[in-house]
Amino acid sequence: METWRSCATCGVENDLDDDLCIICADERQYLPPGGQRWTTSAERAAEGCRIEIEELEPDLYGLTAHPKADIGQTALLVRSPAGNLLWDVPGYLDEDATAAVRDLGGVAAIMASHPHMYGAQLEWARTFGATVWISEKDRRWVRREGPELRTWNQPFEVLPGIQASQPGGHFPGSAVALWSAGAEGRGVLLSGDTIAAVPAEGWVTFMRSYPNQIPLSAAVVDRVAGAATALAFDRLYDNFRGVVPMDANAAVRRSAQRFVSWVSGEHDADT
Ligand SMILES: [Zn+2]
Ligand SMILES: [Zn+2]
Repeated sequence: METWRSCATCGVENDLDDDLCIICADERQYLPPGGQRWTTSAERAAEGCRIEIEELEPDLYGLTAHPKADIGQTALLVRSPAGNLLWDVPGYLDEDATAAVRDLGGVAAIMASHPHMYGAQLEWARTFGATVWISEKDRRWVRREGPELRTWNQPFEVLPGIQASQPGGHFPGSAVALWSAGAEGRGVLLSGDTIAAVPAEGWVTFMRSYPNQIPLSAAVVDRVAGAATALAFDRLYDNFRGVVPMDANAAVRRSAQRFVSWVSGEHDADT
């Protein structure tokens, strides 16, 4: 019998004796009014939870739990000839989603951009026989262990044609994945919360906490943007359905310059 549970707020798996979900108790997230609640797959199923799957571009699919079973992310499934990558992970999995993802070729590798996106990663890994890649710097946030987990700390090809690296920022190990075949071969950056699209077209931002709006320093934003813009991509997908459809590399560069100029006081006369 399964003994694991997940946090009702962030959807991250937990089979330890934690009173509080350490991810939600951290200043980057939040505990809901009323405090910590845990839930199970069976409870989610009884609430009618399901995974909606949609094609975002050829060989790229968005997976979203409805009602929300995680932080609210849209996980991304990248199809490749060498197997599929599940990037950021829904907090839920059922037989319908399993069948639909099997039809898309299953899952060979799982990687969350950072701990907020761990979701039900071990459950997905066991269902599909996939490896879960965990950033060594963020290892302590894993709350359900299994032999499927492997750590990494240097840029590497998580699957042929998909390069993972860690600009950091939002978390010390915050990652991005470069899918070179994406955007008709112009390159796609899966940016997680490391770089987030904003409502204004062609702009992104960088934050320590998105819900609590805690910024990063000028030096860190410069470093994160420098690492990302060294990669060859034209389109960017964050983990909440934010997209910069073209010229995304330039958008990251220009947005970092704007961010740095504001937090450095260059525009203080305008405030
Ligand atoms: Zn949580
Ligand atoms: Zn996050």
